[in-house]
Amino acid sequence: MNKHWLERLVGKAMGRGDAPKQESVTSATPPDIVAYILDVWLEQAASLKQLRMHDHALQLMNIARAITLESMRADPSDPMAWVNIGRVQLADEKFESAKEVLDHAKELAQQSCNTSVEGFADAALFQVLRRQPSVSQAVFDLANPLTQDQYRAHLRQSLSQMFYVCQSCGHLNLMLGEHCAHCRFAPRDLSEVQLSLTMSALNFNTPTLLGIALKIQQGRKPNEFIDGFDAILTGYDTDKGVLEKIRLNAEDDHLDFKTLDRCASCGKVIWASSSDECPTCHAKLNRPTLLKLAICVDRLLQQLIWNLRRSETDEFEQFVILLVNLKYSLVRTQMAPTDAQRHAATELLLKISPLYTQNGGGVVWVKSATTVISEVLNLEVHKDIGPTIDFIRDEVKHFLRLMSDAVSLF
Ligand SMILES: [Zn+2]
Ligand SMILES: [Zn+2]
Repeated sequence: MNKHWLERLVGKAMGRGDAPKQESVTSATPPDIVAYILDVWLEQAASLKQLRMHDHALQLMNIARAITLESMRADPSDPMAWVNIGRVQLADEKFESAKEVLDHAKELAQQSCNTSVEGFADAALFQVLRRQPSVSQAVFDLANPLTQDQYRAHLRQSLSQMFYVCQSCGHLNLMLGEHCAHCRFAPRDLSEVQLSLTMSALNFNTPTLLGIALKIQQGRKPNEFIDGFDAILTGYDTDKGVLEKIRLNAEDDHLDFKTLDRCASCGKVIWASSSDECPTCHAKLNRPTLLKLAICVDRLLQQLIWNLRRSETDEFEQFVILLVNLKYSLVRTQMAPTDAQRHAATELLLKISPLYTQNGGGVVWVKSATTVISEVLNLEVHKDIGPTIDFIRDEVKHFLRLMSDAVSLF
């Protein structure tokens, strides 16, 4: 394991066997100290990447790689040294090797009964699952509730694809174990967890979930419009640890999206995410770019729920899932989009264009990453069709601009 990894990570410099090993043994930084350094450095590297300062990020990652490797070579039996390497691999988005290394770390930790390092390895493995783009998505028979095994397989394969409709306000959220950022709702008992699981990507495809979100936002009750509601609900016989997560998260789980998209002076909702001034009282808004993007993502999701025609295509589904994931990382962790998300956003929008309204009254064409055109097709369908379709066009355009490589979000 060790040699194989050394070769893979350091390449030719390390060579076959006869590399100078001795001098680093005495000078290597102990793995638990490296872990602290990594906390700071990996975060810095992520920030630098978000600032589009790739050269600086690369330099920092090179030092992180070197120091982690040296520390592991000094004591290859220390599980923490392997956790560190796994974290660096994860930061480099080398998911396969991160998993391999972290599994090894976990094994070593178990052998030495080191439960805290086993916990670190588990946490990092969870991050691998969260961030790894799913290659293939399992196909389930959506007419039947998932078995426990299917549910676990689904979670393993596509954790980032899991999202649900808030049963209280009808917004789309990523994590069941947290309060809704729009209405503060979180399940309080098993029956509410069951309802959240029911109205999730475990049971329904994306267009159906958008339809469910609309009905909840219109104030309807899920048992009135979901076929086989009771059977699906009772198919979940445990809360899957969700209630415990909510309890643990309660302290730092206080975000309120509703206050973020209003004018601080007059309290009115400001619809356009690109606004710098309140249209009602003309107060300056001073919104950070990251917040503008969060609002823009929310506006697009609401348009997908209320006004835009839903599609069964993979690209449409991926776009909705991308938005839900973006909203989560923007609102919850104030993290800017990754390179992969930026790239996917433009690609997917170009593929799902044209975007027709559900009433057929208008259409938005995404022609390129910078050109978005709106067109009214039928003025008769609704008196506001013109402003609506222009609003959607502007939000799509703003979204593409903020997601482009050129814009630093800080
Ligand atoms: Zn809610
Ligand atoms: Zn105002």
